[in-house]
Amino acid sequence: VDALECPIRTVEAADVILPRRARDAHKGDFGKVYLLGGSVGYTGAPVLAAQAAVRTGAGLVTVGVPAPVWPIAAAKLDEAMPHPLPADKEGRLSLEAGALALEKLCSCGVCLIGPGLGRGNGTYAVVRQLLREARLPVVLDADGINALEGHIDVLDARQGLFTVLTPHDGEFARLGGDLSGGDRLGAALDFARRHGCCLVLKGHCTITAFPDGSAFLNTTGNPGMAKGGSGDVLGGMILALLGQGLSARQAVPMAVWLHGAAGDRCAEAAGEYGMTPGDLIRALPGVLNEHV
Ligand code: AMP
Ligand code: MG
Repeated sequence: VDALECPIRTVEAADVILPRRARDAHKGDFGKVYLLGGSVGYTGAPVLAAQAAVRTGAGLVTVGVPAPVWPIAAAKLDEAMPHPLPADKEGRLSLEAGALALEKLCSCGVCLIGPGLGRGNGTYAVVRQLLREARLPVVLDADGINALEGHIDVLDARQGLFTVLTPHDGEFARLGGDLSGGDRLGAALDFARRHGCCLVLKGHCTITAFPDGSAFLNTTGNPGMAKGGSGDVLGGMILALLGQGLSARQAVPMAVWLHGAAGDRCAEAAGEYGMTPGDLIRALPGVLNEHV
């Protein structure tokens, strides 16, 4: 995909080609990834994201959650490695979680911060500490994005490290993204350029914008995905593909396309009403298998 030749392009099925796994490969070849998420009240989000990462081929998935959420995450995640982090009395990450999470995260190649973290000043401070101190690519979703409200300088300071943000319209607006004119593509490109990040503006026809002025328009997905949990699945998929060494320009638009394609399969099988984000994860093997 040559972004210079055509700076704005749609992603079609033929563009989505996953690398073959070498016959003599071992799990270390497919990325150690870290996921920070969860809070009392949002126990499902990190679980869905972790399961999606595993289903998208990640080698090892470590998951940091607040201590009260840990028994639940541990019971649900056989294939990932959840560990407990210090929590406040509301069951969200407390300030003390920062140093511990940083230590775990630094042994990984890429991390996803945000699914289900909840809204609290201590938690937001932990997110910003990690963004400042973690010298690795970060995917930021949900409350991880919300932690940047009023602190966009923290994002700007990471320009050399690479950050992928995956907001829906509400989260984008909280970051100062301007959708008032109805020009989603222009708004996404403007944000990506100004802040030196990859911006995934989710929804019907998700846009993936890069700082160099290139953008990818997605062609898959349907309103059956407009349900809590769908975005968490996408976050885990992006994390997994980045962890496997794909460049952001390959990993992000491909993850978005595959996520939507899984959604389209679910809509065929279960219908837009009855399909669930968990169904997306179960549909992934069939979809991925057609793109290797
Ligand atoms: P979130 O709002 O974080 O739960 O993310 C929702 C996910 O579902 C995103 O990946 C959206 O692109 C996708 N989605 C939601 N509504 C639609 C829609 N009407 N058409 C296509 N994809 C959608
Ligand atoms: Mg979300």
